[in-house]
Order: sequence, then structure tokens, then C-alpha cells
Amino acid sequence: MNQSGVVIRVPAKVNLSLSVGPLDEDGYHELVTVFQAISLFDDVTVKFGVEGSGIALGASGSTAAGVPLDETNLAYKAAQLMVSKYQLDSDIDIHLAKEIPVAGGMAGGSADAAGVIVGIDALYELGLSRDEMQRIGSELGSDVPFGIAGGTAIGRGHGDQLTPVLSQGSYQWVLALSNSGLSTPSVYGECDRLREGMSISRPSANDALLQALRAGDAKELGKSLSNDLQSAACSLRPALRLVLDVGHEYGALGCIVSGSGPTVAFLVEDEERALDLTVALSSSGVVAGVVRATGPTHGARRISSF
Ligand code: ATP
Repeated sequence: MNQSGVVIRVPAKVNLSLSVGPLDEDGYHELVTVFQAISLFDDVTVKFGVEGSGIALGASGSTAAGVPLDETNLAYKAAQLMVSKYQLDSDIDIHLAKEIPVAGGMAGGSADAAGVIVGIDALYELGLSRDEMQRIGSELGSDVPFGIAGGTAIGRGHGDQLTPVLSQGSYQWVLALSNSGLSTPSVYGECDRLREGMSISRPSANDALLQALRAGDAKELGKSLSNDLQSAACSLRPALRLVLDVGHEYGALGCIVSGSGPTVAFLVEDEERALDLTVALSSSGVVAGVVRATGPTHGARRISSF
């Protein structure tokens, strides 16, 4: 082994569409979702630790506050899984430089787990294929395989069975961040509560959205963004409706709560609109922060070795 550490850059995701089926017997919902990886990244450093140190985890960056640094962290779990699967020396140092919002519906924890899997593969020269790494990722969480894959993809099952989507062009996003996160299980719980007594059909692909991506048509994409969890997220966090209103008012092509929220993603036409909306949101008093990003972008990938 001729390297002592690697840095893996991992993207956040937005769900361009999220169709949620009825609650099944094992307590899960069958999903059909279209993910897009966007240029808001965590950098995950994985290096050999000193002998006897075991798995050690640290974090820095603008969203690091409140991230657990123990065995409940998904990055830690990813390291444990790789160590036991491949019987590796377990003295591993992991550092998360976090910019992806925590509990923001952007799969930050899953992205970090994806970074650790790709990082350990590179550091220990395991030679795993992307498919193998995605299979390992799915043991940790439904969004982890997409963190490895990146780009634009349909996720079925629990979101973990991925098929790449044909997509042209690059899309401009403005993201409105919240001060505090929303727990994914509680948003699904609220969705079930709001649906009580309704007959819910199986989840389905959003054909208009897939067509818009194939054509590289941002206007059509904006019109066809959809999220079955949006009403539940807004029910738990009514202020999100005010945030969505700002986007409508400032001419966003489309506005959507990302995944289980509370981050709201606005698709805009160009840089000028992105700037206008950024200023409007920042001065509205209804958001904690605003970030701009483009998508699609790559999945977990090595940016340096040392
Ligand atoms: P998703 O979109 O996949 O539902 P999310 O973006 O809403 O996820 P995460 O940022 O992944 O949520 O974090 C959810 C919770 O998981 C956090 O509240 C935190 O306690 C815990 N967590 C575990 N590992 C991490 C990590 N590496 N980074 C951030 N949070 C983590």
C-alpha cells in the first residue's frame, strides 16, 4: 500500500420526483423516485489510523454542528461494515468536512457513508466495482447507493434499486435551508396520517419529468417536479409554504421540498434569476440560509490521495 489517505467528494441529492406507495406490512413504503446529484458536497477523508485506535471519526465544516461522532454516524457504520466484510485492519481515521445540511432531505449522512465505502475501497486497494459498492451501500440505507452513483437516476424499491436516467443539460438550483431538520420517519408518519382512509395506488414514474430530462427542457422539468411527501413536510413545518411562495413570486421554474425536507429546492432559468431569488430569499426572513448549486454532478469520487 503506497498511500496513507484519500479524500472523497460526495454530493447532496434532490428528489425531482418522489412517488410514495401505501405503507406495506414490513413498515416501509415502496417508492419510485428520480434523484439528481447536485454540486453541494461533503469531503470525506479516510486514512490509516495509529495502531490500536480503531475507527475514529471527526467533523468540521459549516453544517458539522450536531452531527453525531459515535457509532450511530452512518459514516462510522459504513467503516464497520467494510472492516467486517473484508476483514480489514480496523485502525481507520475518518474526517467529514460537511457542507450538506443535516436532516435536510438531501441525504448528507448517506453521502458520507458512500464516501467511506469508496474511500476504503481506494485506500485498501480492494478493487470493488461501483455495482458492488452500491450493493454494500444498500445494506446501510436506501439513499447510499445513489451517493456512490451520482448523476440522475430512478430509484425503485426503497429508493435503492437504481437505473440511470437519460438527461441532457445542466440545471441551476437555489436551495433554501432551515435552521433545524425534519426527521425522515416522522415525515413518513405524517404522510400516512394525512392519507388515512384514502386508497393509495402503487408508486409510479413521472413520465413528463423523464421526458423533460431527456429533452434537456428546464421549463418542462420545473412544471413536472413532484413530491408526495411535500404536504406532510409542510404540515409539520407550516413555514415551508411561505418559502415556496417566495419562489413562485420570483419566477422560479419549479419549487419543491427536497425528499422529506425541510430544504426547499428552486429550479431557475439562469444565473441572473438564481441571484435574484437568492437575494429575495435571504431578505425574506423565512429561511436560515441560501445555497446555489448545479446538477447533475458526479457521485462519490476521489479528489486527492496523500
Ligand atoms: P435523507 O434525505 O436520506 O432522509 P437527511 O438528509 O434528511 O436524509 P441526514 O443529514 O442524512 O438526513 O441526517 C439524518 C440524521 O442522521 C441526523 O439527524 C443525524 O443525527 C444522523 N446522522 C448520522 N450520520 C450522519 C452524518 N454522517 N451526517 C449527518 N447526519 C448524520
